[in-house]
Formats: sequence, structure tokens, C-alpha cells
Amino acid sequence: MKALDELTFDNRFARLGDAFSTSVLPEPIADPRLVVSSDAALALLDLAPADAQSPVFAEIFSGQKLWADADPRAMVYSGHQFGSYNPRLGDGRGLLLGEVYNEAGEHWDLHLKGAGQTPYSRMGDGRAVLRSSIREFLASEALHALGIPSSRAVCVMGSSTPVWREKQERAAMVLRLAPSHIRFGSFEYFYYTQQPEQLKRLGEHVLSMHFPQCLEHAEPYLAMFREIVERNAELIAKWQAYGFCHGVMNTDNMSILGITFDFGPFAFLDDFDQNFICNHSDHEGRYSFSNQVPIAQWNLSALAQALTPFINVEALRETLGLFLPLYQAHYLDLMRRRLGLTRAEDGDEKLIGTLLTLMQNSGVDYTLFFRRLGDDPAAVALASLRDDFVDIKSFDAWGEQLIARSAREETSTEQQRQTRMHAVNPLYILRNYLAQNAIDAAEDGNYDEVRRLHNVLCNPFTEQTGMASYAQRPPEWGKHLEISCSS
Ligand code: AMP
Ligand code: MG
Repeated sequence: MKALDELTFDNRFARLGDAFSTSVLPEPIADPRLVVSSDAALALLDLAPADAQSPVFAEIFSGQKLWADADPRAMVYSGHQFGSYNPRLGDGRGLLLGEVYNEAGEHWDLHLKGAGQTPYSRMGDGRAVLRSSIREFLASEALHALGIPSSRAVCVMGSSTPVWREKQERAAMVLRLAPSHIRFGSFEYFYYTQQPEQLKRLGEHVLSMHFPQCLEHAEPYLAMFREIVERNAELIAKWQAYGFCHGVMNTDNMSILGITFDFGPFAFLDDFDQNFICNHSDHEGRYSFSNQVPIAQWNLSALAQALTPFINVEALRETLGLFLPLYQAHYLDLMRRRLGLTRAEDGDEKLIGTLLTLMQNSGVDYTLFFRRLGDDPAAVALASLRDDFVDIKSFDAWGEQLIARSAREETSTEQQRQTRMHAVNPLYILRNYLAQNAIDAAEDGNYDEVRRLHNVLCNPFTEQTGMASYAQRPPEWGKHLEISCSS
């Protein structure tokens, strides 16, 4: 374990120089108070849970104090927002405080979100409100606990600093961690501003820091692009299998590492709905739940365009072509496991597709359906779930197919099937209404609910005593919360 003042910095990105980021100091928020912290994320920095309680912790993560070795920087990038190219974005309200390496030798970017204005703030105030900071914190840690790659969150620091959105709110800061905050849009920026030297430096940096295994390849850039395609195929498969809707899949919100990143109006599905749009400002449904798959591929093609100076177009096209089959293979694998199946059969895709068609418009809770299916022997579970479906007859027919299919699994007892299913089907997910309850309390100065919810979500697959209310379907009001981009 280390003390907070013993973190070891190695600011590799900052050393790339001023073409890549601008030196900016955090602008403090007033009367900082710890809203919530993550022991698991603290441990990534070799810090103990108690460190979060120290006064100096609140000073640092509210922008009042800084390590001597930190080198806070606002990173420049651009990106495609809702399909249109925006030539200049960048960290408008977040700062890369520096890169820390831990005792295990891992590098972590320390990124303080809500740290005040930067040269990239455009019309914005550089702030993040308490509500969006809590949502980002909970989502990062909940996704990680589900096994879905994500940036991590160490803490949320609340304050008395007023911020104006649709109404007056309070400013907050989140300290988030990721091995890198480089985005698709970072490459797009140097490509579209025609800075080939800087584009090359960025490429070399990303290769050597984050994809060193590709350097041994005859064409390192192509190998790296292939890996980015593979990682994104796997990531999106996990989102789709677990019902996570990102909401703002602009290319500036897509991590080069294939992790969930830059949370906005995200949501987990309650009732299953392929067409669900979680972002109230997304009028055309560009980032609807089912569109996340083609959009990820579209975003990868935008990245590919920015890599054309390094890689032949044919090779890029061929590699992009791997996305859908890779996605499909990962998705099928996850969905099979969610149904308790361990090996592949030709009819599986149809079995899964039929289930989702039956769920659509039936008002079936996506998470609880899979969990309940593993609660009892299959026939018993199916009998208790059937009433949720509009087309009960077709659901019964589907259930018979599932039982026949499960019988073809080798060496599997009913008990093994149930244990296997519970290990991949969460009981607790970050439902929008649960986040909202926690936010409402936090806005009144009570942080117990955020902390309790965070604890529950850290072990989503294990039933926890006294926490049954977190594993229920949302109340009617909780299904229709309008979450906008304003954060
Ligand atoms: P986002 O939608 O959060 O990914 O942000 C898109 C762009 O707007 C990024 O360049 C952000 O840094 C910037 N931005 C968002 N909110 C603010 C804000 N309150 N102040 C300054 N810049 C912001
Ligand atoms: Mg963003």
C-alpha cells in the first residue's frame, strides 16, 4: 500500500508535447465532500479504502491541491458527433492529471472530470454536475463488476459550487481511471488538420504504450487496427448481451482500447426493446440499442479513414469486414451462456432470435428473465415466466425447444445448469430509477443510498441479504425517465 503522496507518476502522454494537449490547472470546487469511493479502484493505485477519508484526498480530488509530479493536461481531439464531423473538441471539462504506475507495473491515467474550463471548453462552463458524476461513477464500477470493459471510477467529490443547467445544480468531480484516454477522435484530429508528423507520433505512442505486441508484426499499424476491431467487437457484444445502451457513441467517446468510455445518458434495458433510445436528445434513434452494432462499425470506419496514411485501404477494408462476424461470434457465445448452454449448435442463433422477438413488445424484464430461468429446474422456471409473454403459445413452444436443446448438453445436471446460469446472469443491474433514487438523496446531502447501491452493484451475480428491493422490476415512473445530454 502507498500513501496518497507517494503515487509514482510517469506522464508519457504529457511528454508528447503541446500539439497533443494543453497545460491547464484544475479550478477547485468549494466545500468538497466525499460522496462515494470505490475500494477496488483505489486498490488499482495501491491506495487503501481509508485514504479516501483523509482531508488531503478531498483537497486533491476537488482541484485544491496537486502532487508536485502531476502534469495536468487537457487533451485535444475532434470527432464525428451524430454522424457529422466536428473539427475541434478536446477535454472541455476534464483534465488528465497525470499517469501513475502501480506496484503491479500497470499505468493508469488519472482523469479529473469537472475540473473547470480549458481551451477546449467552447461555450461550456467546464463543470460536471453531481447527478452525472454519480451516474458515471456507478456505471463504470457496475460494468466492471459485470465483466464489461470500462474506464473505472475512484470517487465522486461533491461541492457547494453552483452550476446552471436546466436549473441550478451543484458541481462535482469524478476521478476516473483508464490505461489511456486516447480516442478514435484523437487520431481524427491530426488526420483532418493535416498534421502527418503528429499523427505518426500519436500512432507510435499508442503502438508502443498500448499495443506493444503489434510491433513485432510486419505491419504494426494494421495489426493494431485489427486488435482495435477485435476489442470493439467483443465490447459491443457484451453491451448487447447485457442490455447496455451507451447513448452517445460519437467517435470522440470511443476509446482506442475498446473499453466503455465517456458516459452520458446511458441506460441498462429494463423491459427488452431492440429500439430503445436512452438519450432523450437522440431524436432519430441513431444510437438506439440495436443500432449500437452498425454504429460501432461506422465508428471503426471513421478511425480507419484516419489511419489511411499508415495502412493500405484494401487491408483496412478487409479488417473492418472482420467486425460483424467477430461481434456475432462473441454475442452468440454470451447469449448461449445466458441460456445455460455450454457448446455451440447450428440452431442457436435462431433459438436466441426467437426469444428476443417474443420478448419485444411483451414488457419482459430483460435482466430478470435470464436470472429467473436459472432459479429453478428449466420446466418450472419456464412455467413461472410464461405469463409475462403476450404470445404465450409461442413462448411455450420456445420453452420446449430450449428444454430439448439443454438435454443435448453433455454431463450437466440441473443443479450445474442453475449454478452456471447464475454466474453469468446478474440479479442486480444499474437501473435508471435506482440511480435516480440515489441521486435524489445525494442532492439532499444524504450519500447512504449511492454507497449502498454501489456496494450492491459490485457483486451483481450474488444474491445479497436484505437487498431484494434492488432486484425488482422498476416502478412505472422509473421506466420513463428522460435523460438528456446535459450533464
Ligand atoms: P461529451 O458529450 O460529454 O462527450 O462532450 C462533448 C464535448 O463537449 C467534449 O469536448 C467535452 O469536453 C465538451 N463538454 C461537455 N460538457 C462541457 C462543459 N460543461 N463545459 C465544457 N465543455 C464541455
Ligand atoms: Mg466525450
